[in-house]
Formats: sequence, structure tokens, C-alpha cells
Amino acid sequence: MGIEASTILIDGVWRPSRSGATFPVTDPASAEVLGHASDGDAQDVQDAIVSASTAFETWSRTTAYERAAVLTRAHRLLLERHEELARLLTREQGKPLRAARTEVTYAGDFLAWFAEEAKRISGVTIPSARADQRFLTMRQPVGVVAAITPWNYPISMITRKLAPAVAAGCTAILKPAAQTPLLAVETLKLFLDAGLPAGVINMVTSRRAAEVGDALLESPEVRKLTFTGSTAIGKMLVQKAAPTLKRVSVELGGHAPFIVFPDADPEHAAKGAALVKFLNTGQACISPNRIYVHRSLYDAFLETLEKRVRALKVGQGEQEGVSIGPLIDDRAVAKMEEQVSDARDKGARVLVGGDRVAVDGLAGTTFYAPTVLADVTPEMLISVEETFGPIAAVTPFDDEDEVIRRANDTEYGLAAYVYTRDLSTAIRVTERLKFGMVGVNDINPTSAAAPFGGVKSSGLGREGGYEGIDEYLDTKLVGIAI
Ligand code: NAP
Repeated sequence: MGIEASTILIDGVWRPSRSGATFPVTDPASAEVLGHASDGDAQDVQDAIVSASTAFETWSRTTAYERAAVLTRAHRLLLERHEELARLLTREQGKPLRAARTEVTYAGDFLAWFAEEAKRISGVTIPSARADQRFLTMRQPVGVVAAITPWNYPISMITRKLAPAVAAGCTAILKPAAQTPLLAVETLKLFLDAGLPAGVINMVTSRRAAEVGDALLESPEVRKLTFTGSTAIGKMLVQKAAPTLKRVSVELGGHAPFIVFPDADPEHAAKGAALVKFLNTGQACISPNRIYVHRSLYDAFLETLEKRVRALKVGQGEQEGVSIGPLIDDRAVAKMEEQVSDARDKGARVLVGGDRVAVDGLAGTTFYAPTVLADVTPEMLISVEETFGPIAAVTPFDDEDEVIRRANDTEYGLAAYVYTRDLSTAIRVTERLKFGMVGVNDINPTSAAAPFGGVKSSGLGREGGYEGIDEYLDTKLVGIAI
């Protein structure tokens, strides 16, 4: 993509920003400039709002079958372009190619799932106390949707929002993360090439997030905000959505506990922890941030975890055998350094890693060694603050009540993990954990078919599953006198 980037999509046409400004997009592993994106501002947002509002008049009146057909075709195109999407994802965001392929498949799952869910939007009939009256409900699209997405899952977070919006009959304006606009362009092309009419989805790429966000949120035409990102920004956006009383769903940060009970197999649990903790180089909202291991298994667990983590290879995601890519930027590395030095000062042991690393032949400066910290305590920064990087923080515990209290002692409530072979423990503990998703001996409690989301400061609403489309629908009651 040349300097004269045209990555803004309004009314079906790709165009530059009104101001003509652009910004570079870099590969975090090689520091190479991959292209440029249009730097949209409030004026571009106004154009997008007009486009989405106009398109809503017709798109909201299409049949569920027409909308499902578009999503099904978009899914087919995604499968055809799977490898090129995955390679661009690796270049732009940094995750290893295998993980990028998995994410592209996951992104496609939302297209396929919501193509089916479109046909299942149904209302109910309700008995009336009056003999001459009947009630029924209609489910109708909420209107124009503003979708703001993060860089860490740069394709699946887009389809997780746009597929249900399109399925419900809404129109949308997407503001993708500034680090990953190129993949957003390729993702929107799937919808356009599948025959989605002009204006149904619009996009404003930008690195002026606050200006673009404000223009979207101040508009009374925009009836819904769907956001995935940090808790701080999410809370602020919910406040800004209040004056115009928009529907909101926000998927925010996490601080997942990973609890290994005394009857679990410590090796199996440590293998699970090594897999899920270092997924996407730890840059995942469901990444375990606090690993609690029963004291009787502590040494055995740490031994396996350390061995596994030592074997992880750091590098550019397209290189053979690499499972740890770069962090997204220098700020992320600084956060790792701060959390590790704070933990060290307060008595944690660094079993492996603990430093920034350079990779031969690569100019990227954001590689951080996969790290295991043992004897982590609640006073350490890492026990409180979301890490979002490749550091496993491990703490021993002695009894169930104590570990549940500690696990729940966080403002977050997204994912939690429990390892036990005892069914009663699994159910008892799951019921007491204040989290939106719990993996029991399972490191991946996610699917397009399952509701994803958190409680407390981890968010509002659910994405995916049969609940996912509800976020884009209003219920209209009709009372009929007969
Ligand atoms: P972020 O800084 O909150 O950014 C997310 C999105 O919001 C980006 O598009 C960003 O734009 C935009 N944004 C930033 N400031 C804004 C403002 N003032 N007004 C409007 N939009 C604004 O989060 P991130 O660092 O990209 O993502 C990591 C966070 O997302 C982590 O906390 C992670 O846990 C969370 N996350 C949650 C889920 C979930 O499903 N719960 C999934 C993935 C990630 P720019 O890119 O231009 O800054």
C-alpha cells in the first residue's frame, strides 16, 4: 500500500482521509514499514455516519436470508484467502504464523455462526389479560453501530462484532486499532466482495483515536457502541455514550487466575499453563495472570513449566519453530520490565527469562524473553495489573477458601482456569469464581458458538453464542386490539 493510502471506506468506496494525512504501519519484528494507512478524523467520521445512516434504511429491511447469504459468501472468501490473511496478520501484529492461522479460522467461525443466527431472530406472542387484545414482539436492528477494536486479535475482534451487526440488519462504522489497519482493510474486502451493499459497513482508520471516538459517540445517529480494548478506555467510552443513551457492549481487560488443586496432575496442568500463558506472546485478555498451585504440587509444577518455557523459541512469526513473537511496542516491553523488577525487589524468583532479548537478523526491539516468576505475592504489581506479555507468575496456596478469595480479589472478571480431577471441586469452585468464563482442565473455553465476556471491570455484554446477536437487536412490543 503506497504513501497515498486509501484505507477509509465510505459508502462502498475506498478513499484517503479528507485531510490527506497518513500514518505508517510497521512489522514489530523487523521494524519494516509495511504500508501506510489513511489518518481519518472527525470529518471522515461524519461522512461515515451519513453513509451508515442512509444504508440502514434499506439494509434493515432485507430478509434474514439475504443477510445470511452475504455472510456465508464472506466466510467462503475468508477460507479461500486464509493463508494470505494469516501471513499479513503475522507481519502486522507479530503473532506466530500457526497462531495467526488459528485466529483467521476463528474469525471465519463468526461469519459462519452469525449467518445461521440471522435466521433465528424471532419474537414471541404473549397472552393478554383482555380477551380482545393480543401481544407480540418484534426483534429489530438497533441502527448504526460504532465498532472499535484492538490490535491483539486484529481480525477475529472485527468479525465478532461485524458479523452479528450485519446479521441483525444493522449498519456499522469500524475504527480498527492504529497498529493493524491493513488487515482490517483485507477483512472488509471479504464483506464487499461477498456482495454487501455500499454503506452497510464503513471504516475510518486513524491514529487520532480520541477524536474519532468522540465524533462517533457524540452522534445521536449512532445507536450502539461495541468496543474491545482496555478497561480504562472502555469505561471512558461508556460514559461518553451515556448522553445519547446508546446501547453498549464492551469487552475489556482481564487478570485470569489459573488454579491447580492438589488432586490435579501437575505436569498436565503445567503444560496447559505454558500453552495458554504464552499464546500470542501473552497478549490476550484471557491470559492467566496469576497461577496458584497447591503447595503439595508446587515444585513439580514449576519444574515442568520451566522446562516448557525454556524450549519456547523467540523470533519473527513466519520463522520455523517460533512460538514467541515480538510485543506490540516499546511501551509493552517497559511494562514487562517494570513488573519483573518490582517482583524481583519484593522477593520473587526468576526461574527463566526476565529480560528483553535481541533476535539475530531482526531490527525489532520489542522481543521479551518468556519468563517464569515463582513465589509471587499479592503485593507485587503483577498480581494486580494486567501483564499482557510473556510472564508466568506462580504462587503456592494451601486451602480452597484462601485461593478462591485470592482469585476473586481483583477488579477484573473475564476468564479463570481450574485444574482438578474431582467433579465436586470443579463445580463448587466454578460457582464461586466471579468470572464470565471458566475453563475446567481446559485452556481454551472459547468458540464462536459460546458466549464470550466478563463481569465487573472486564465488561458488559456477551459476544458470540446465541446471545451475541441480541446486542444488536431491540425488542418492539406490539399490542393488538382485535
Ligand atoms: P486500547 O488502548 O483500549 O485500544 C483499543 C481500541 O480503542 C483501539 O482501536 C484504540 O485506538 C481505541 N482507542 C484508544 N483510545 C481511544 C479513545 N480515547 N476513544 C476511542 N477509541 C480509543 O486497548 P489495546 O491496547 O489496543 O488492547 C489491549 C486491551 O484489550 C487489553 O486490556 C485486553 O485485555 C483487551 N482485550 C479484551 C478482549 C475481550 O474480549 N475482553 C479481547 C482482546 C483484548 P488506537 O489503536 O488508535 O489507540
